[in-house]
Amino acid sequence: MTPRVTATVDLAAIRHNLRVVRQTAPRSKVMAAVKADAYGHGAVAVARALEAEQVDGLAVACMEEALKLREAHLLHTPIALLEGVISIEEAALAVYERLQVVVHDHWQIALLEQLPDSAEVQVWFKLDSGMHRLGFPLSDVPRLVATLQRHPGWKLQGWLTHLSCADELDSPVTAQQIAVYRAALEGVPGPRSIANSAGLLAWPDARVDWVRPGLMLYGASPLPGKTGRELGLVPALTLESRLIAIREFAAGEPIGYGQTWRTPERMPIGVVAVGYADGVHRCLPSGTPLMVGGRRVPLVGRVSMDMVTVDLRPAPQAAVGDPVLLWGDGLPAEEVASYAGTLAYELFCGLTQRVRFRYR
Ligand code: PLP
Repeated sequence: MTPRVTATVDLAAIRHNLRVVRQTAPRSKVMAAVKADAYGHGAVAVARALEAEQVDGLAVACMEEALKLREAHLLHTPIALLEGVISIEEAALAVYERLQVVVHDHWQIALLEQLPDSAEVQVWFKLDSGMHRLGFPLSDVPRLVATLQRHPGWKLQGWLTHLSCADELDSPVTAQQIAVYRAALEGVPGPRSIANSAGLLAWPDARVDWVRPGLMLYGASPLPGKTGRELGLVPALTLESRLIAIREFAAGEPIGYGQTWRTPERMPIGVVAVGYADGVHRCLPSGTPLMVGGRRVPLVGRVSMDMVTVDLRPAPQAAVGDPVLLWGDGLPAEEVASYAGTLAYELFCGLTQRVRFRYR
């Protein structure tokens, strides 16, 4: 049986994109962000591919995500919990599973202090250099150094900060964040980590001991106006469905819910078996490109739960059963996302359980 909607994940592309990270930041170790099920690509398969390429570390959001990797016998690459731990049980489990804990607040220190002195806790300290989401104020660094001195069982993995505007190339914010972070850590021992994908691609000063790419590993560009391909990346996920009907309509006929679009002339309309229940955003407007037989065809009318309708005039040879590309190589997810007023991150993470995943 041919699956209705298929996401094909090219693991060789992900390994290639890791090599691009390494070429861009050759002196940095790489902690690959595989949180949110590897941005919807499938965390276990992606983590295995990255481990085969000797990635230096993996980052997940929370304990549940880390345990999924451990259950799949991903035992060799360090795994960091970006949100840290939220209970004494999780703290103990982190030690037992040898997970690295990102500590971002004093209440988390208090939790870790409840563990036995013999517990070997692998700790990253997260510093707030301007994002103002998670992290200790930079003025807390001396206190954190003192905390480490009180706990010889705690193994410092490094000092981590996160950039809020790394994709805004003409903004002064990133340079300021890097400068205040550096100044706060002057003379303080321990590895540094600053950059996400945009940070490592666009800000050489952010390529420090560790980089933490996510999006670029999946082949999408974090930089506005540039595609993944233009940055040397290979898109890893191809989302495809198929044409389940082709109908000819006279000029002036409305198409779909709300009759938001009308045929400007006599023309063929294709019906594609994919909708918002698969993760194709309902807000995608008429004009959003899809691809049939290598040709771009515009979406027309509203996205419904199971179907979208397309203007087939650019692909007159199209036949029922033909594959339709929603995004992938030749139709970047970041371009499709822009029509929905969002980013490729959200398209990737929005794929639903109805989509069948294949790996190659
Ligand atoms: N580091 C942290 C702390 C993050 O939260 C994220 C993702 O949001 C990343 C790294 C990876 O970011 P990106 O996917 O933009 O490379």
